[in-house]
Amino acid sequence: MQTLTEILQHNQARRVALGHFNVSDLVLLKAVFEAARGLRVPVLVGASEGEREFAGTQQVAALVRSLREEFDYPIFLNADHTHSLSSAIEAVKAGFDTVVFDLSSLPIDENARQTREAVEALKAINPAVLVEGEIGDIGTGSSIHDEAPRTAQPLTTAAEARQFVTETRVDVLAPAVGNMHGMLKSMIDGETKKHLHIDRIAAIKQASGVFLTLHGGSGTDDEDFRKAIAAGVNIVHINTELRVAWSHGLVQALVQHPDEVVPYKILPPVVEAVKKVAASRLRLFNGKSNVAQASVQ
Ligand SMILES: [Zn+2]
Repeated sequence: MQTLTEILQHNQARRVALGHFNVSDLVLLKAVFEAARGLRVPVLVGASEGEREFAGTQQVAALVRSLREEFDYPIFLNADHTHSLSSAIEAVKAGFDTVVFDLSSLPIDENARQTREAVEALKAINPAVLVEGEIGDIGTGSSIHDEAPRTAQPLTTAAEARQFVTETRVDVLAPAVGNMHGMLKSMIDGETKKHLHIDRIAAIKQASGVFLTLHGGSGTDDEDFRKAIAAGVNIVHINTELRVAWSHGLVQALVQHPDEVVPYKILPPVVEAVKKVAASRLRLFNGKSNVAQASVQ
């Protein structure tokens, strides 16, 4: 099986991107895995500190490893938004393939200094682990917001990206390029969309020379995704869209069958609802046609 780095390199040459989906329970993991497997594309599963606290760091790692081994399938695991070195070390020791070391709330110099230390410490545990650094402000919380967190979002500059990557030696960089964590209410039904600064992505890619991750992808315009991937984005994070499908699917399942109490009878439609969203995004990121999806909607 190809390593995660080989898949990213291979994808980059083909100008397609790896889909990253957050999970915190078995329904989400099952849905994401089935969606990827159905399309025969590699997939990256993420668990943030909050998600790991709920599901268990060792337990998420064991579940993902079991899928990878039983099905000989390229499914990888990312320690998403990790704010402390101790938490990052715990994840790498548990077998996570990548770590998003997120000190983006600190001034960039301090962020770079501590991220450099983390890169050294984590690669000493597992030289193959990929470490992602974060610069710029894209808000927090993959949930539904009443209004945009800020009126003016400063974008990451190419110069900042180059300096940060040189100083830290991260493998992957997450810039602020118009993306934002969470979704606005108006984005749930597609009334409004997020738009990305494609020229800035291309400039950051050229200046940094590393893999780029787009966080907060939920609610982004499809055409902007295509252009962003062509401009150098290698990994796209989708979380809120899955959470909306999970939550709405669960409510609907419970309302339709108020007397049912058996989890494995209530939950399959929830898996299907999440799977549909994940499959649609994976098709887009992997340059596959969405025609079949559109025709059944
Ligand atoms: Zn994120």
